[in-house]
Amino acid sequence: MNCYICETCGLQFESGHEPPTLCPVCTDERQYVGRNGQRWVTLEQLAQSHAPRIEMDAGLLGIGTTPTFAIDQRALVLTTSHLRMMWETTSLVTPAAVSAILAGGRIDLIAISHPHFDAAMVEWSEALGSVPILLHAADSEWIARRSSRIELWHEERLQLAEGLQLIRCGGHFPGSSVLHWREGPRGGGALFPGDALQVTSDRRHVSFMYSYPNLIPLSPNAVQHIAQSIADLDFDDVYGFTWGRNIIGNGKAAAERSIARYLAAVSPDSRGMERAA
Ligand SMILES: [Zn+2]
Ligand SMILES: [Zn+2]
Repeated sequence: MNCYICETCGLQFESGHEPPTLCPVCTDERQYVGRNGQRWVTLEQLAQSHAPRIEMDAGLLGIGTTPTFAIDQRALVLTTSHLRMMWETTSLVTPAAVSAILAGGRIDLIAISHPHFDAAMVEWSEALGSVPILLHAADSEWIARRSSRIELWHEERLQLAEGLQLIRCGGHFPGSSVLHWREGPRGGGALFPGDALQVTSDRRHVSFMYSYPNLIPLSPNAVQHIAQSIADLDFDDVYGFTWGRNIIGNGKAAAERSIARYLAAVSPDSRGMERAA
């Protein structure tokens, strides 16, 4: 029996003798099935072809995969004065990666922004001492491997500890959530937006998509709702979904500027970016 992992999105499924026929996340219009069709890999096979990438990213311990695999997100380990947590997960769990994480202390919980980063969440939870996995209930239909460690939250905001909370923004997925750490690693507050607000390549803006690979924009209403959801939060830094995709300094102003730019670009009566300029 194996818990097969989808090669395109990195999601790990329930254990079985055979891999599932298809991956619902990849047949969804927000993702895609790879050019060679639906392909699966076991954790053991993945550990033979790939290694965990364990590096600091803008002051936080990051865990990724090398060479790149699937969506190529990197998880982050946050050490606050009240708890230690893993934000997002990856597909490859190895003893070396687990040791690197636990070297700084025990992990209290895992929280994940949305189903694209569920990856091998149950494998991670078990390896880190059977810690809770917090997922927003609005996305529960996408859970591919069930576990008693998964805890669904239903609110619009969930306080994890003093100065640390999850905020449901919706948009990309109904339960798409961001993490806000009031202190942040540098003292000025940090936002961890998953794909709800995507840090762009220039590392000075964020943008919004219903589907990033298939280029389906998010509606203005959804972006306005995201803007309202985070309006009262202060943050200097924004940590994007993968290595180096971070806005370090003036993050709140960058988000506000980006929201205005996006709404101008998709406005039906505007000339798009010409008007925004
Ligand atoms: Zn998939
Ligand atoms: Zn996504």
